Amino acid sequence: MKIICVGRNYSAHILELKNELPSEPVLFMKPDTSLLQKNQPFFIPHFSQDIHYEVEIVVKIKKIGKHIEPKYASKYYDEIGLGIDFTARTLQADLKSKGLPWEKAKAFDGSCLISDWIEKNKFQDLNAISFSLQKNGKTVQEGNTAQMLWKIDELISYCSTFFTLKIGDVIFTGTPEGVGPVSPNDSLEGFIESTSAFTLKIK
Ligand code: ZN
Repeated sequence: MKIICVGRNYSAHILELKNELPSEPVLFMKPDTSLLQKNQPFFIPHFSQDIHYEVEIVVKIKKIGKHIEPKYASKYYDEIGLGIDFTARTLQADLKSKGLPWEKAKAFDGSCLISDWIEKNKFQDLNAISFSLQKNGKTVQEGNTAQMLWKIDELISYCSTFFTLKIGDVIFTGTPEGVGPVSPNDSLEGFIESTSAFTLKIK
């Protein structure tokens, strides 16, 4: 299973990190060892104290595909989830400034969480799903898939031009503005629409 992540897919988040608006989706990957096990806390890693949460809508691929046209992309997934793409922000900024790959900052053990999956047909419009993240009971991120620069079907198509998509692969679709740091004893709770999708303790 591979985890493909999309960077810079919400313009307000691009501005908050002072990045340029991309002309194509920014892609990176996380290995399967980055996935947090269910009901396990997130441990701040020894190599960075500056870990940021990024809440994102996640899509699970159900069918093998390559060069998928956007109009057929909806046949390749049935389920949507909510995830966190943890990022060692200072380390990422350092790697970015040197033009180096981001893996150490993005793909470390435990650097992503995925909620239980929800059937996509539970949603009226996949391009109008609201989601949010609370830290210690206070809302820190709010987004809506309507704000994506590239929508889910376009992302599936784009990813599949580089990487064959296989059953069980997951795509993180980018984070809205409001990213920020976590500290030991914080608790995070993610919501899709108004339903709680996950809770996570930081250690
Ligand atoms: Zn992200």
